[in-house]
Amino acid sequence: MIKQFIPQEACLKCRGCCRFTQADSVWLPCLLDEEIQDLLDKKIPAATISINRRIQPLPNPQGEGFICAFFALKENKCKIYEFRPFECQLYPFLINLRGGKVILTVDLNCPYIKEKLGSRELKEYTEYLISLLNSPQQIRLLKDNPQIIQAYEEVLDIIELNI
Ligand code: SF4
Ligand code: SF4
Repeated sequence: MIKQFIPQEACLKCRGCCRFTQADSVWLPCLLDEEIQDLLDKKIPAATISINRRIQPLPNPQGEGFICAFFALKENKCKIYEFRPFECQLYPFLINLRGGKVILTVDLNCPYIKEKLGSRELKEYTEYLISLLNSPQQIRLLKDNPQIIQAYEEVLDIIELNI
């Protein structure tokens, strides 16, 4: 599990994650190959995984757009939090592909990140993340799972990764 920067209480009060405007949104979590196997081993219905290795969203029963198939809307929390995907653990940080470069970025739509921009704690956390993502084990994981390196718009670049 990736160490978290944002306290769980802050996320539980926020409505920013796990909801999507479109069924094919780039923001839908993409799954590592091993995560797909793990979910299937846990008897999670195969229909919750799309053919392009993303979580298949469901129409939002309370309004417009879509929600993650693993999202408990009423409680505003993830039903598989203990084994949520790598991309969900990483968010609001994202691995971005731009101009042939793999860049660690952060989504400024996250209000907690916006509030902490320029802070020492955010700097220390990004140092932790950079070191983790540049480790041989993580580089191998990303090379084996290129589906999770995607092109996101309107994010803040942090650093190019050694991939
Ligand atoms: S947008 Fe940020 S604060 Fe809100 S739920 Fe997502 S990660 Fe948590
Ligand atoms: S798996 Fe959990 S954390 Fe990830 S998008 Fe779905 S509900 Fe949110």
